[in-house]
Amino acid sequence: MTYPPTFIGYRCSLCGTEYAPLDFTYTCPRDAGNLDVLLDFEAIRRQFSPSRLTASRDFSLWRYLPLLPVSDPGGEGTPLHSVGWTPLYRPPLLATHLGLSQLWVKDESANPTASFKDRASALVVARARQSGARVIVTASTGNAGAALAGMAAAISQPAVIFAPRSAPPAKIAQLLIYGAQVMLIDGNYDAAFDLSIQAAREFGWYCRNTGYNPFTAEGKKTAAFEIWEQLLLPQRLHRPLCLFVPVGDGNIISGIHKGFKDLLALGWLEQMPRIFGVQAEGSAAVAHAFLSGGEAITPVQAHTIADSISVNLPRDGVRAVRAARETGGSYLLVSDEEIRRAMTTLGQAGIFAEPAAAAAFAGLVRAREEGQILPEDPVLVLNTGSGLKDVRAAMQAVGEAPILSPSLEDVRRLLRL
Ligand SMILES: *Cc1c(COP(=O)(O)O)cnc(C)c1O
Ligand SMILES: [Zn+2]
Repeated sequence: MTYPPTFIGYRCSLCGTEYAPLDFTYTCPRDAGNLDVLLDFEAIRRQFSPSRLTASRDFSLWRYLPLLPVSDPGGEGTPLHSVGWTPLYRPPLLATHLGLSQLWVKDESANPTASFKDRASALVVARARQSGARVIVTASTGNAGAALAGMAAAISQPAVIFAPRSAPPAKIAQLLIYGAQVMLIDGNYDAAFDLSIQAAREFGWYCRNTGYNPFTAEGKKTAAFEIWEQLLLPQRLHRPLCLFVPVGDGNIISGIHKGFKDLLALGWLEQMPRIFGVQAEGSAAVAHAFLSGGEAITPVQAHTIADSISVNLPRDGVRAVRAARETGGSYLLVSDEEIRRAMTTLGQAGIFAEPAAAAAFAGLVRAREEGQILPEDPVLVLNTGSGLKDVRAAMQAVGEAPILSPSLEDVRRLLRL
């Protein structure tokens, strides 16, 4: 096992017990709490500075290697080395639509396998390499699996993916094309999750599962670093940035929170952004916990078109509640109909989002209607995954295109401009 000297251990997010880097691999042995990775910020600060980081010519998440608990996994010139550094848009149409003076969209669909999940899988693949693991396994609603399959393929590492058989066909196609061993479960994501952990134990595989493996959040935190570098450093906002994040297991929102906390601990961030989580009404265990004022997570029977955030028991729920509570953010609930409308609105600005990703924008629409976000609040919305991941849902949002005989008359009759 090799790892950088700045990785000094873990702390359980529930009981606070600290562990050495080699003590445990996944969750806390006492209470199954999620483990936060601990870094030696003093040492990092002695060796690096914001100006040194921002001068990097590496336009991927690996530019933040000094702030990560892994060493460089190699794979230069492959998709593994182009994860991250995704574009930041400033779409005027959407800002006007929402009555906001400052609105940004960070487009994670530009990642190699077209979703935010590449960030987590890149870190996990690096960790697997450094621990000598041969096979990596994950349960997934589709994107985490596609990301693991793609990143593992990039460095010829075998991957096994457990996904619900109901996953959108495009996501299943990605798993197969990247050459992973695909296990489609006759059951939901939660069933796939439990089975993948049993299989990992039985066959000695390294398990990437979200809200189980501590390294996924370390990959996801790099989005916070990019928001800091692309927006907060150059812009000098006068009010805290309000960040809208779709939430299923709660690992993206916790990872982003961790990234900003790391920057704060380094003394490199002036003001913590306010983090807003968005859940589908039919899959809202984290939002319920937040709105009840506590942090205990009660499972639900999830049902939503947004398959990537359809989760009965969120595996990173407690940290996800805290991300909003500790930053002055909140949780919003959106219906499937609001999600479909958000897909259409985003599309009109040239942004194609899958339903789970569009949920974040739908949450912002809600927050504006309810007055939780003011016109002068600077806002950033994440587009966590490409609309090409789920073409059926996209067609449901916009309806069918007309079919006409090849005649100008029909063109004139159907023209809507
Ligand atoms: C996984 C995923 C989410 C939700 O992330 P969690 O860590 O499960 O909360 C949101 N959008 C997309 C596109 C995803 O793939
Ligand atoms: Zn614990």
